Amino acid sequence: MPTLFVVATPIGNLEDLSYRAARILREADLVLAEDTRSVRVLLDRVDQLGGAGTVNARRRVKSLFEGNEAARVALATEALAAGDKVALVSEAGTPGVSDPGARVVRAAIDAGATIEVIPGPVAAIAALVASGLPTDRFLFVGFPPREEGARREAFGALRGEIATMIFYEAPDRVGATLADLAAALGDARQASVARELTKIHEEHVRGSLAELAAKYAEVSPRGECTIVVGGAVEAPPAIDLEAEIARLLGLGLGPKDAAARLVVRTGAPRRQLYQLALSIQRARGKAP
Ligand code: SAM
Repeated sequence: MPTLFVVATPIGNLEDLSYRAARILREADLVLAEDTRSVRVLLDRVDQLGGAGTVNARRRVKSLFEGNEAARVALATEALAAGDKVALVSEAGTPGVSDPGARVVRAAIDAGATIEVIPGPVAAIAALVASGLPTDRFLFVGFPPREEGARREAFGALRGEIATMIFYEAPDRVGATLADLAAALGDARQASVARELTKIHEEHVRGSLAELAAKYAEVSPRGECTIVVGGAVEAPPAIDLEAEIARLLGLGLGPKDAAARLVVRTGAPRRQLYQLALSIQRARGKAP
């Protein structure tokens, strides 16, 4: 059965390449890579490392980028049909994640090939788990649109999103993106900027969107950045029952109506709210 190997590669630290990834890259007949120059550096390292699998002397390296992905689909399916071992890598991280690869995978599936994934680094997940924000539900947004209207619309659509959100962004746009996110989702929303993950200068800056936007307003961060933003909080803000009942009574509502309004808003038992309203009214010297 022909097999397409989707191989994750490091996002900065070469030690993150798995043993299996190294073996597949040594043995491959065809390596489709986003950037052939950087993959050759990686292949040289992998070949020198030793370990399982022998270096394939017939191994070819071909470029695969957004502009030629359609043409490379044919090359990949032909190689698979010929029984070649085809490996797909991106410039860094996991192919297909804000990188080319998805079309080749689709074509390989349609051609009856098996897809084997060699999982590994992906900046989005590394940034998420280090952010301290909830990880039970998350939404990978990738690069936000650059055009202002599309951007406002995209961020506005995320206002009620309860999942933690992950954005990729170019360093010189991080400040503007954080400011636009603050405008759309609220200044107080908690967020984290993960910079240079797995590299020497790895850094995680956590705070509210307003704080982070202010930090990067004038000086852009250096190096690659991933932004993680907490989701909308589901629970409504806690209500101070006594204060709210007092306010409603002050507006001229009777204890019964005040209690009825708060039943809807808080879900607290009507009887309890009514008793509280009565006692507040008595204390004010207005007992019925
Ligand atoms: N395929 C890659 C992956 O699996 O994460 C993503 C490629 S995408 C073209 C590049 C973007 O990923 C960068 O602009 C940045 O937002 C994020 N990124 C990649 N490496 C990173 C790193 N070491 N630290 C922080 N963010 C990184």
